[in-house]
Amino acid sequence: MAADEKFDLIVIGSGPGGYVAAARAARAGLSVACIEKDERPGGTCLNVGCIPSKALLESSAHYHLARTRFAVHGIETGTLRLDLSAMMKRKEGVVSGLTENVRQLLESGKVALIRGTARLEGGGTVSVVGGERNRPARYRADSILLATGSVPATPPDISFDGDRVVSSTEALCFADVPRHLIVIGGGYIGLELGSVWLRLGAKVTVVEMLPGIAAGLDAQVSRMLQRLLAKQGMVFKTGTRVTGIKPAAKSVGVFLEKGEATETIRGDRVLVAVGRKPNTAGLGLKDAGVETDPKTGHVVVDDRFKTSAGGIYAIGDLVAGPALAHKASAEGTAVADLVTGKTARVNTAAIPAVIYTDPEVAMVGLTEAAAKERGKVCVGTYPFTGIGRARCAGDTDGFVKLVSDAATDRLLGAHIIGPRASELIAECVLAMEFGASAEDIARTVHSHPTFSEAVMEAAETAYRCAEKGEAR
Ligand code: FAD
Repeated sequence: MAADEKFDLIVIGSGPGGYVAAARAARAGLSVACIEKDERPGGTCLNVGCIPSKALLESSAHYHLARTRFAVHGIETGTLRLDLSAMMKRKEGVVSGLTENVRQLLESGKVALIRGTARLEGGGTVSVVGGERNRPARYRADSILLATGSVPATPPDISFDGDRVVSSTEALCFADVPRHLIVIGGGYIGLELGSVWLRLGAKVTVVEMLPGIAAGLDAQVSRMLQRLLAKQGMVFKTGTRVTGIKPAAKSVGVFLEKGEATETIRGDRVLVAVGRKPNTAGLGLKDAGVETDPKTGHVVVDDRFKTSAGGIYAIGDLVAGPALAHKASAEGTAVADLVTGKTARVNTAAIPAVIYTDPEVAMVGLTEAAAKERGKVCVGTYPFTGIGRARCAGDTDGFVKLVSDAATDRLLGAHIIGPRASELIAECVLAMEFGASAEDIARTVHSHPTFSEAVMEAAETAYRCAEKGEAR
């Protein structure tokens, strides 16, 4: 193979941003390479993020339901036994199946999937180290897309040791159920992985610096989520700062500070889940003239994902915005369209976010508080206790809350806590994408009995409020 092989587009990173962009650009007729440093494609999401966490959440939910809820349905189970290694094996099977699908998608689409660590060399050139022997170490392209994602962040003075003090990556494959798992950070990753181990029998304590959990959620939803998780046994220490961690041979001490009060708690594992930071190390951004935000480290892009360096684009967790797989994929799709001469946009106002706890939480658009800052709003709320399907399932915790513009009745935000929230939110996202009003949703016929009737009922309340001029 010749040195400096040339492509129309080089994508660095094969996560949900990179692989989607590479496959789409190749389908549109471009010659495309996708460079990935890990053995398996799929990025954080498929390998150590969305997919393994959801596989474990499903498995642990089955175990938890069998222990706590089957009896209500008249099902006797006898003695239940947890086979954690089988659960982990299943998770690994799900991950390897999906990463193999990505490899096949790229290969069948004629994308050159190149193994190795890429670095920008300027002038449209990318070098690759640690790659396959029969491949050149340098490539050139008219366009380069940076999709290198993010890595776990740590608070100052705390570092991972991979054993007692771990990131989400290790917390997805503990060999035993911890006796006491201390989770630092009450965001969605901490709550989801905390839920997995809680359901499997661990004591779980979540320490959160802010007054409430899951920052960014509608306040009413966040309060209810904390209350319901606490009812399941999750211990919360909110408004509490971690001042230090001291790992020992078989346990780890976590030093806490709340106002003037200090406390030390001991667990056998600590999961540090305080967020993620853009993965820019060793990419050669400075030499290539790619600007980063000095505060956050994100690569700075314009609304067409162009960086400060000509011909170089960036997407996904590497750039600002919610660090979510579907946001990365939407941006990857847009860049693939832009480099093939089409127009493209990503509607940042309609990117949903989901927390896969029990109950699930899902949101899109503005919270009630944020919407009120912009003008008068109508709020329609409907509890799952009023939904026949939820009663049949015995799953009545939670509600749907829709926020609409008081003057136009247009949907501004949707907040759902309850059964199937992750699926129900899709209707609200579509409504926002189409600029629908609460009345549009309320007049749309929903099947009966379904959980989705709660969305229709909440919409009815919001639209009646707009009609009667009862805006808040
Ligand atoms: P990534 O998926 O991080 O992919 C980047 C890729 O680039 C990696 O494969 C990396 O190896 C490669 N790379 C990096 N540097 C180089 C280099 N120099 N050369 C070559 N290759 C390189 N999001 C959701 O939407 N839903 C969820 O349920 C969800 N759950 C999550 C659970 C956990 C535990 C975690 C950690 C994350 C979760 N996320 C979830 C977030 C989601 O994983 C990320 O938002 C998403 O993976 C970002 O995609 P990306 O393409 O930007 O980057």
